[in-house]
Amino acid sequence: MDGAPAPLRCFSERHAAEVFADDGVETVTSAEQKKVEHNIEEVISVYKQIHSLPQPTLLREQHYQYLKKGLRHLSDSYECLDASRPWLCYWILHSLELLEEPIPAAVASDVCQFLARCQSPTGGFAGGPGQHAHLAPTYAAVNALCIIGTEEAYNVIDREKLLDFLWSVKQPDGSFVMHVGGEVDVRSAYCAASVASLTNILTPKLFEDTPSWILRCQNWEGGLGGVPGLEAHGGYTFCGTAALVILGKEHMLDLKALLRWVVSRQMRFEGGFQGRCNKLVDGCYSFWQAGLLPLLHRAFFKEGESQLSRQRWMFEQQALQEYILLCCQNPAGGLLDKPGKSRDFYHTCYCLSGLSIAQHFGNVDLHHELILGKEENRLAPTHPVYNICPEKVAQALQHFHQLPVPEADQRHGASSADGPSAPAASSGSAEHQS
Ligand SMILES: [Zn+2]
Repeated sequence: MDGAPAPLRCFSERHAAEVFADDGVETVTSAEQKKVEHNIEEVISVYKQIHSLPQPTLLREQHYQYLKKGLRHLSDSYECLDASRPWLCYWILHSLELLEEPIPAAVASDVCQFLARCQSPTGGFAGGPGQHAHLAPTYAAVNALCIIGTEEAYNVIDREKLLDFLWSVKQPDGSFVMHVGGEVDVRSAYCAASVASLTNILTPKLFEDTPSWILRCQNWEGGLGGVPGLEAHGGYTFCGTAALVILGKEHMLDLKALLRWVVSRQMRFEGGFQGRCNKLVDGCYSFWQAGLLPLLHRAFFKEGESQLSRQRWMFEQQALQEYILLCCQNPAGGLLDKPGKSRDFYHTCYCLSGLSIAQHFGNVDLHHELILGKEENRLAPTHPVYNICPEKVAQALQHFHQLPVPEADQRHGASSADGPSAPAASSGSAEHQS
C-alpha cells in the first residue's frame, strides 16, 4: 500500500449510524450490547486523539514476547487448562508461525517430547500426561506437531493407535463422541476428520454416515448447532463445515443459508463477529466465523457460481482488521475477546488467525492481500480448513502419504475394496479455496 493510509471505517461519519437501536425496548442483552459499543467508541476516540494519520499497528514484538514466555512458563491462572495442555502448545505455535517467528530447535524438540507424553497408550492424545485420550487435544497435538514439521514431530504420532482411537469414539449414526463415554457434538467430527486427513488414516468406512449426521446440524438459521436441533453457533458451524470440506461433501449444505447466517454475524458497529445471533462481539470468532468465508467461497466456486469476487471474501475484511487491531490487542502483548477483557493464548491464536484470513484472499494460484496499516502488520496466510500455515499442511500430507494407511479398518469391518482413500483435502482441493 503506497501513499496516504486508507481512511479507517470507524473514523467515517457513517460509522456512528451503525450503533444498535433497541427500538425503545431495553432488555438485558440490549443493555450489554450498548455497553460494549460504548467501550469500543471510547477506544476509537482515544485512538483518534493520539493518531492524526490512522495506521493501526500490530504489536508484533509484544505478542512475540508474550508467546515466547508462554511456551516455557504459564501463570497460575492457567491451572484450569491442565487438561488442555496440547491446546496451549498449538495456540502458541500457530500464533508464532502467523507472526513468522521461527521456533528454536530445542524448544520444538521439547514440545515433541511433551506431546509424546500426552499420547495415550490406547491411541490419540490426552489433555496432559496420564489423562484419557480425547479428540480435542488430539486435534491440537497433531496440529502442533505438523506446525513443528520435523521428522521427530511426525514420528511422535502413532498412526495405527490413532486410528484405533478414532474407531473407539465413532458412533453407529456417523457421529463421534469426544472421548470414550463422552459427549457427542460436531467438534468431534472435525477433530477426527482433521487428524485423519493430515496423517493419512482417513478411510470412507471410518467416516461412513458422518456427512449426513453433520448435515442434520444445520438448522433453519442457516448455521450449524453442536448437535441436530441446537442453536446455530460459530464454533460448531466452522467445525461442521470444515469437516464436510475434508470429506468432500460441503456442497450438500444449504450454502446460501449458511452464507446469509455467517455474514449477518459480523457486527455493524464493532466490525468483529459474534458467535450466535443476539450475542456480543468476541475476537475469537474472527476465525470461527470469518474462517467460514474461504470455505464458502471455494464451495460456491466449485458449484460454478459466476458472481464470485476474485479479490475479496464475502465479509468486511477491513472492518474485521480494525476491530482486531484497535480493540483486541493488549499493549503488553497477547490478544483478547473485547475491550476490558484479559488476554489469553486462545484469543491470541484465533484473533491472529482471523486477522490473517482478513488480510489474505485466495490461494497459491490467486492471491490478493488487503493489509490494514503498515506492511509490517502482514501475517502469514493460514489454511482455512486446518488453521495451520498452508505449507505445513502440504508438508504433512506429503510426509504421511508416503506411508500406508494402517490396517485397523479391517478389524472394524471395512472391506478391502474401500482401500486407502485420498482425502479431499489432500488432493489439493483445500488449497484451492476460490
Ligand atoms: Zn472468545
